Amino acid sequence: MREQQGLTLTRRHLLKGVVGGAAGLVLGASRRVSAAAAQAVSGSTGAQRLADDLFVLQLPGEANVIAHTGANGVVLVDGGSTKVADALMKMIGELSRGGQVQTLFNTHWHPEQTGLNEALGKAGKTIISHENTRLWLSTDITWSWNGQQFKRLPKVAQPNKTFYTTGKLDSGIRYGYIPDAAHTDGDMYVYFPTQNVLAVGDVLSNQGWPVVDWQTGGWIGGIAGAMQRLQALANDQTRIVPGRGPVMSLADLKVQATMYATIYDRLTTLLNKGRGPSEAVAAKPTKEFDAQMGNPDEFVRRAFESLWAYLSPDA
Ligand SMILES: [Zn+2]
Repeated sequence: MREQQGLTLTRRHLLKGVVGGAAGLVLGASRRVSAAAAQAVSGSTGAQRLADDLFVLQLPGEANVIAHTGANGVVLVDGGSTKVADALMKMIGELSRGGQVQTLFNTHWHPEQTGLNEALGKAGKTIISHENTRLWLSTDITWSWNGQQFKRLPKVAQPNKTFYTTGKLDSGIRYGYIPDAAHTDGDMYVYFPTQNVLAVGDVLSNQGWPVVDWQTGGWIGGIAGAMQRLQALANDQTRIVPGRGPVMSLADLKVQATMYATIYDRLTTLLNKGRGPSEAVAAKPTKEFDAQMGNPDEFVRRAFESLWAYLSPDA
């Protein structure tokens, strides 16, 4: 069943990825310091204030969590991992002066995003995700490349409100699917129009190379494609919150778009020459970006393997 769906998606994503990659070829990507390092809230809370009612919560080693503190309670984009659930809830309680979390978005299924699901699900709160994310959270998953296993979440912890394309909360917060399969095949964004803040989960990383989770649909062509798509959701003033690292600007996003388009082209060229993952790593297809992004070997290997899933004739 999932195999069948995967086949259909493959063809569609391939087209989108190729179009996105070509459109992104603008040379001259200069290294940029994120426009964003901006105002950390004073004190050691690990919260960065984006607006009076909007915060990025950054705990050491954890993915970014976005908290909107409205009159009708708190809306969260992602919930950290289970081990920081208590610390996060304490921070949120302080920032919102005791406000209750009413809504949690899961930008995708990874444990770094879904650590609050069980507690909030048991409390009867709304957990919103793309339908594919709910499906992944309701099944056991093993990553082929390292054997890491992920157990399905109990029913109460699974998203209880899913969507396929877009949606909107009463407060005006908008959300939608990022169908390129950049990180997984359930990626989504959340847009806060009043504050002009766009949260995109691990589709974007501003702290090292991303995980290309091809086991659940992500691929390098999808990353290149999503970089194009996200630009259409942002303007020059939009602050873009990646899954990890500092807040970004549209200019930062454009730099990454150029980078991933370049890498995608190089990897497809290697694939077309019949090279394998180790040869792709040895060819250093990311070399001019490594000083900024870090050791690329795992990323390149996964990215190359993801091409097999999407581009091989029998895929
Ligand atoms: Zn992730």
